[in-house]
Amino acid sequence: MARAAVSGGLSPRLVWRAARLVEFRDETPSARTLVFDVPDWPGHLPGQHVDVRLTAEDGYSTERSYSIATPADGTRVALTVQLVEDGEVSPYLIETLSVGDVIELRGPVGGWFVWRSADPAPVLLIGGGSGIVPLMAMIRARRAAGSKALFRLIYSSRTPEDRYYADELRTRARDDFGLDVSYVYTRKTPEGWPLPPRRLGVADVNNGGWPPDFQPACFVCGPTGFVEAVADILIALGHDARRVKTERFGPSGT
Ligand SMILES: Cc1cc2nc3c(=O)[nH]c(=O)nc-3n(C[C@H](O)[C@H](O)[C@H](O)COP(=O)(O)OP(=O)(O)OC[C@H]3O[C@@H](n4cnc5c(N)ncnc54)[C@H](O)[C@@H]3O)c2cc1C
Repeated sequence: MARAAVSGGLSPRLVWRAARLVEFRDETPSARTLVFDVPDWPGHLPGQHVDVRLTAEDGYSTERSYSIATPADGTRVALTVQLVEDGEVSPYLIETLSVGDVIELRGPVGGWFVWRSADPAPVLLIGGGSGIVPLMAMIRARRAAGSKALFRLIYSSRTPEDRYYADELRTRARDDFGLDVSYVYTRKTPEGWPLPPRRLGVADVNNGGWPPDFQPACFVCGPTGFVEAVADILIALGHDARRVKTERFGPSGT
């Protein structure tokens, strides 16, 4: 496939590449960051994703999309995968794939849900569950580029234990001037949290976001229902629909 694509003159991002797992770390009891080495990786922008292809010995193959968790870094591509218990691909990536194993990866994919570090506009990131992954790539890219763009992240997770990148986000919120982080918990809150568990609502976007007058670039990512609810809130609050970019992680068809 890769040879055919190259000789056919297809864009490099359409080529399937061998990706070797070089390290991993657990973010939560059910989510793992996998770092791959991908020779000839063409680079990517924060917010883009890749297609992952697994092929069994009998030739059966299947593909899924995963957001890239880090800014461009040579041949390294990091993904954070949430376990879907009865899923086909995520249990394999989390429970079976070992350091040194090779899978196939294609990308980067997507040119709309991206943040460019030269853009000085304020940014509002709203993520639900694993939807934090491409938003974290933007936060990391902001730091790497020394950008002064003002960032606000609203992160909804089921429980405190389900938060990805918890220590890093705490450090970033403390050390990265112009980055504010707020949390919403849908099932269980930390001890002493002032509000009960609940879904993210208008008040959270009002308090943790930017007023529409600031004309922030808004990036919303997570399960389909979450993304649609948050996009509706942003539009109802007066944000310009053209500045509200969304990425849905749900299975196809939802
Ligand atoms: C652009 C894009 C980026 C994505 N980025 C990430 C990412 O960074 N991290 C990540 O963990 N996932 C991400 N996903 C979701 C990912 O592509 C898979 O859908 C997910 O890993 C489940 O695949 P699976 O093969 O394990 O489950 P499947 O075999 O596809 O599904 C098994 C069962 O789980 C349900 N299901 C499938 N997907 C989900 C889901 N996302 N949430 C809840 N139930 C589901 C199905 O309806 C089915 O009942 C992304 C999806 C898209 C479209």
